[in-house]
Amino acid sequence: MILRMSSLFLRTLREDPADAEVPSHKLLVRAGYIRRTAPGIYTWLPLGLRVLRNVEKIVREEMDAIGAQELVFPALLPREPYEATNRWTEYGPNLFRLKDRKGADMLLGPTHEEMFTLVVKDLYSSYKDLPLSIYQIQNKYRDEARPRAGVLRGREFVMKDSYSFDIDDAGLENSYELHRKAYIRIFDRLGFDYVIVKAMSGAMGGSRSEEFLAIAKNGEDTFVRSPGGYAANVEAVVVPQAEQVDAAAVPAAEVVDTPDTPTIDTLVDALNAKHARTDGREWTAADTLKNVLVTLVHPDGSREPLAIGIPGDRAIDEKRLGAQVEPAEVVAFEDADFAKHPTLAKGYIGPGVLGKENTSGIRYLLDPRIAEGSAWVTGADKSGFHVVDLVYGRDFTADGTIQAAEVRDGDPAPDGSGALATARGIEMGHIFQLGRKYAEALDLKVLDQNGKLVTVTMGSYGVGVTRAVAAIAEGNHDELGLIWPREIAPADVHLVATGKDAAVFEKAAELAGELESRGLTVLYDDREKVSPGVKFKDAELLGVPTIAIVGKGLAEGTIELKDRRTGTREDVPVADIVDQLV
Ligand code: ATP
Ligand code: MG
Ligand code: MG
Ligand code: MG
Repeated sequence: MILRMSSLFLRTLREDPADAEVPSHKLLVRAGYIRRTAPGIYTWLPLGLRVLRNVEKIVREEMDAIGAQELVFPALLPREPYEATNRWTEYGPNLFRLKDRKGADMLLGPTHEEMFTLVVKDLYSSYKDLPLSIYQIQNKYRDEARPRAGVLRGREFVMKDSYSFDIDDAGLENSYELHRKAYIRIFDRLGFDYVIVKAMSGAMGGSRSEEFLAIAKNGEDTFVRSPGGYAANVEAVVVPQAEQVDAAAVPAAEVVDTPDTPTIDTLVDALNAKHARTDGREWTAADTLKNVLVTLVHPDGSREPLAIGIPGDRAIDEKRLGAQVEPAEVVAFEDADFAKHPTLAKGYIGPGVLGKENTSGIRYLLDPRIAEGSAWVTGADKSGFHVVDLVYGRDFTADGTIQAAEVRDGDPAPDGSGALATARGIEMGHIFQLGRKYAEALDLKVLDQNGKLVTVTMGSYGVGVTRAVAAIAEGNHDELGLIWPREIAPADVHLVATGKDAAVFEKAAELAGELESRGLTVLYDDREKVSPGVKFKDAELLGVPTIAIVGKGLAEGTIELKDRRTGTREDVPVADIVDQLV
């Protein structure tokens, strides 16, 4: 294919757009790849669309390679499925809601768990149909509070979203691993310097979740990693802070020894025996749950305070105490005001469902140990999730707002794998084990081997396709312009004809034809009344990896080749040029 600059629908700009702050945004607009239509909404011009299609192609090939099948849902969707999962409300102002002419509520899909769940329910009914992975590459709509950096955070953007359906947990684990490997191949091919981090599952619900972050100083996400391989988004990290867990510093507290392995009942007994309430009443289980701090003393002597309960929650897991604690000490005090005692903050708070508010209005941070399904969670409640190591004032405040965890450089990694270092990144992909949340809400069941109806377990996996274009540009540019990796570039060769000599233009046109016939895409600058200086500037700005200049050298039988990234130049004999370029 030959793209002739004389007729290509393209205008490059010398000035940075006024609303652009980061290099990728400035350059994609200046190089004529995208045009702003409205805040966070962009038009893809011919060269930009070619880049976007190249990214899509890589994503599609890798999804197909793991056996995922492509389909496309509408973006315009009915309210009911999103009502059934509560996301019509939960999504808040980020959801684009609209009404049709009959007054029915509609939305523009921000993500499609509901629709995929329903189509599988519609068509499949047996374990024999599973496992299944299906995906789409499609426009998504989110009314972002702060659309930013061009297509990096848009309000309309392209996402590849896939969903896996399995009969059991082992199946889900396998589908998740397949996607994880496919994502590694995708982000390798896209040329990212990236890191895979533990993530919070947020509004999606579910358990195991990881993000693929492109390392970028302009990234909106902060992550931490340790020399021993721990890596997590700070949203998902909770770092124990020793100075905040000194039980002796709790005001008005008293230590009560419990010789045996404690249960809720033995705690109550111990309290009544040794720590009379000032109001004369007996301690009850409910009081205990509200007002007791237990310090676990591990066999190695390390102490771990557990705040039992935020008012209204039954938060201690008796089995866990029984299994792991010997001996325990109980620190009791009345009417504990958790907000006033940061020492309590290294706590054990639950029960509840991830991503939802619990009765005390505190939303949960996901501890990495829970994400890994370790023994920390032993089903004290139906939902089965608890949070450990929350730090008051850092992770949540008295009114229940979660704050971004402020992990600092040098904090210890929660898994003991060394000191953490923080860095910034751009979230390029996100994979989740959703579990049965959506299948339950929408009643997706199939018959198992014994003819019994069982709920399907699901995974959800996203790649930001338009965001990838911006993120690649963010990591591949210099002061002159863009520098595309070969597989993503809008053309293989940028061929420039300079001067006024007709022979130069003839030779260049011939070369363009030959390269085309060898399967290359040539961006051919055949403009006649444009100076060489302007042509070279455009070539630097547009960022095709190889620039071939047919001009003065032709008299000596050479064509100049320039590597856009390294800047190296060489004069290549005309006879060798095609072989050198293909
Ligand atoms: P972010 O944290 O950046 O808001 P997200 O966690 O809300 O992203 P997901 O719901 O995980 O996003 O969606 C999957 C992928 O879609 C993300 O990993 C990201 O690459 C992409 N994406 C999400 N929101 C946008 C957006 N507003 N513009 C462009 N791409 C986006
Ligand atoms: Mg978001
Ligand atoms: Mg995110
Ligand atoms: Mg995400």
